[in-house]
Amino acid sequence: MEAQIAFKERPEGGYCKCGRKAVFSRKYEGSYLCKHHFCLSIEKKAKRTIRQHNMIKSGDRICVALSGGKDSSAVLYILSKVLNGRKDIDLFAVSIDEGIHGYRPESLEIAAKFCEQLGVKHRTLSFKAAFGKSLDEKMGEVAADPSMRIRESCTYCGVGRRYLMNRMARLSGATKLCTGHNLDDEAQAVLLNYIRGDLFRASRMGPVTDWSIKKESDSMFIPRIKPFREIPEREVALYAILKGLDIHMDECPNVGGIRFEARDFLNNLEAKYPGIKFTVLETFDKLLPAIRQVAEGNEPRLLRCRICGEPASREVCKTCELWRL
Ligand SMILES: [Zn+2]
Ligand SMILES: [Zn+2]
Repeated sequence: MEAQIAFKERPEGGYCKCGRKAVFSRKYEGSYLCKHHFCLSIEKKAKRTIRQHNMIKSGDRICVALSGGKDSSAVLYILSKVLNGRKDIDLFAVSIDEGIHGYRPESLEIAAKFCEQLGVKHRTLSFKAAFGKSLDEKMGEVAADPSMRIRESCTYCGVGRRYLMNRMARLSGATKLCTGHNLDDEAQAVLLNYIRGDLFRASRMGPVTDWSIKKESDSMFIPRIKPFREIPEREVALYAILKGLDIHMDECPNVGGIRFEARDFLNNLEAKYPGIKFTVLETFDKLLPAIRQVAEGNEPRLLRCRICGEPASREVCKTCELWRL
């Protein structure tokens, strides 16, 4: 996995401003950081992002989407630190069990143990319970039925996961859904939306993803916050390791496709031109108001799914369509 490789790349002979030996060389800043100052810088950056974009306010009930991987574990860890002792804000975590053989069970165990250590309430929801079958079972069905147009497991998985996470967050009274998306995820999403010409999806990106911006009255979608959106993936991974967080390191066995290529493309550019991922995101943020203007009018009407009652852009929502509920 890329994240693991990153740590072998120790800075040679670099020293932190405090005089201690560096564990990380931050090329886009030209700085060397010791363990203490590296971790501090990550926490400061996350806090600054939260503050800058008003991600959290008094009275919030924050649901963290926890997979057991480095990003969501680290974001939960930092939030529990930042919010430590605040009685006016509630924090809890939800994990989704897609039913991916040999991958999910271990990460779910890790997630549950981690929440126990932090004293954070935790719940798990499974595809099997919600949709009647696991992702593996669904993909078996798809393989056997050539008439099914959509064949990539990531589509079934992603659609199902977003659906359950939003529904779960809403039913538990959450006011924010927090995810561990990092700079790499965000820069990839910028490119992918551009390549696919998906201006509507692009218009709903940004630091606080609120699908109901235009319709204050419709609270079916819980606004999503991403405190790590300005932190590169390898730095989140290094932070998780330096803090000794017990995390699940395997990459999902189903991952692939065009997102993979976007990731490689950005990584190659970043190696040659340090800081380019920031530029991609910064430029996008500057264009966002204009993108929202262009996308306005093209947005799908928000309806209620005839089958499940969840928000949908057509009569039947994507989840009910794909999972044949
Ligand atoms: Zn230092
Ligand atoms: Zn539905």
